[in-house]
Amino acid sequence: MLGLMQDQPLLISSLIEFAERHHGDGEIVSRRVEGDIHRYSWADVARRSRQVANALDSENLLFSDRVATLAWNGYRHLELYYGVSGSGRVLHTINPRLHPEQIAWIANHAEDQILCFDLSFLPLVQAVHAKCATVKKWIALCDADKLPADSGIPGLVSYEAWIGGQSTDYAWPSFDENSASSMCYTSGTTGNPKAALYSHRSTILHAYAAALPDVMGLSARDSVLPVVPMFHVNAWGIPYSAALTGAKVVFPGPALDGKSVYELIEAEKVTYAAGVPTVWQMLLTHMKPAGLRFSTLKRTVIGGSACPPAMIHAFQQDYGVEVLHAWGMTEMSPLGTLCTLKNKHLEMSAEAQDAIRLKQGRAIFGVDMKIVDSDGKELPWDGKAYGDLLVKGPWIVKEYFKAEGGDPLVPDAQGRGWFPTGDVATIDADGFLQITDRSKDVIKSGGEWISSIDIENIAVAHPAIAMAACIGVFHPKWDERPVVAVVKRPGAEVTREELIKFYEGKTAKWQIPDDVIFVEAIPIGATGKILKTKLREQLKGYKLPGL
Ligand code: AMP
Repeated sequence: MLGLMQDQPLLISSLIEFAERHHGDGEIVSRRVEGDIHRYSWADVARRSRQVANALDSENLLFSDRVATLAWNGYRHLELYYGVSGSGRVLHTINPRLHPEQIAWIANHAEDQILCFDLSFLPLVQAVHAKCATVKKWIALCDADKLPADSGIPGLVSYEAWIGGQSTDYAWPSFDENSASSMCYTSGTTGNPKAALYSHRSTILHAYAAALPDVMGLSARDSVLPVVPMFHVNAWGIPYSAALTGAKVVFPGPALDGKSVYELIEAEKVTYAAGVPTVWQMLLTHMKPAGLRFSTLKRTVIGGSACPPAMIHAFQQDYGVEVLHAWGMTEMSPLGTLCTLKNKHLEMSAEAQDAIRLKQGRAIFGVDMKIVDSDGKELPWDGKAYGDLLVKGPWIVKEYFKAEGGDPLVPDAQGRGWFPTGDVATIDADGFLQITDRSKDVIKSGGEWISSIDIENIAVAHPAIAMAACIGVFHPKWDERPVVAVVKRPGAEVTREELIKFYEGKTAKWQIPDDVIFVEAIPIGATGKILKTKLREQLKGYKLPGL
């Protein structure tokens, strides 16, 4: 017997219709590429995304055709989120920080038909457009009078001219909720990048889940600043969850430096901000020497890489901002776990609570997780046993676009497929996950594993260290030993010996790095994560002291 509830597909267009009707006057504020501040409302997003849909129809784009963006976080990008997916096409957000060759490869692989770009990426588009065989229209996200005259890009039009003449009426089509809605290529440190292809259903379920109080906890009372880019896993779903909740959204555009982000937080009374640790580091570095304080910011979700304890301490204790440490990945839309305390933790000391916040948190309903040993045997949730982390759920990929890389899932005894995250983790009895490493970054010393994240966290807790990356280096007896590459804060001094001494008492003796390498900079990838492969290349030929 089937239930007798209405059969209504979960579609992205319903989010923008809801936002228009229920909080149409909710504000959307954007710092534009031009540098000025633009403001309008959810009702305006809805109206203009219908114009986008009409413009796509007039280009004769078919259902599921791909429309790409090379764009910062801003209102026009948001209109494309809704106009493209809502009308049944697939939004392909491209990471502009990738190498131009890789961007061309991705655009060809996705078979993008239209590519919309912010003017700051004009040189990039000039470099790649001739190689993008499937793109038949290039659109600059700007006013008609800002369109560059001699761009060299055939048929280039401005976004405003493109949608300007279109009707603001559009009947959003209804279709199978499992239809593709958007796609994002993984950073792909090895081999070609692979794309996660999200569906309307997965996006809506993720948006519901993300809005829950113990997840992102967004509400109509929030002013939300997604510093996480809309070109990487849909800015952690905030453009969708904000429409669902009616939060005010503040887009930072291209200005991600500490000063600009701080000023935007204050000017727009931001209560909630989301970003990766590298961006928050820039913000804190700007604020501390100037003695600046937050007047409205209450919570920040930090993820994408491990949030160091020093950062948790600074936000929580120095600025009174609650840190929500989150873990996820492109293949997971991206949210997997989020760290919020349970009732029984509320009586604990601030230090004990911060120690919990260091973990990546508890699984969101919808995400099943387990850790397994090298034979695939499930490991206990005791906070000590660590193993490969596998996940399954309705917003996690079952395969990559065009079946690239084959079937990624690992079947269990019941034949259910689990996605191997490539992360190594522990899970404690309360269900808190802690990532110890990427499986390929784990350091194996004398048969025991050393967490490179732990080693890095200790280094950046030293006042003279701005950034740290730990890698394993060959050792004839122990297989590998940890060494830590560090960048000093401007004007700060610390010696190799002082830093090694700093580890004493903070980690087991055998886990203390054998060496400290002072470097000018640590290579960072397109999504703000440390590129250990590149660091290993840079340190090729390096030998441990005494060998
Ligand atoms: P991406 O798909 O590019 O977003 O990268 C996903 C990967 O980033 C995960 O598999 C983890 O290795 C890493 N990651 C994401 N969030 C965290 C976190 N909070 N702590 C540690 N690693 C993280």
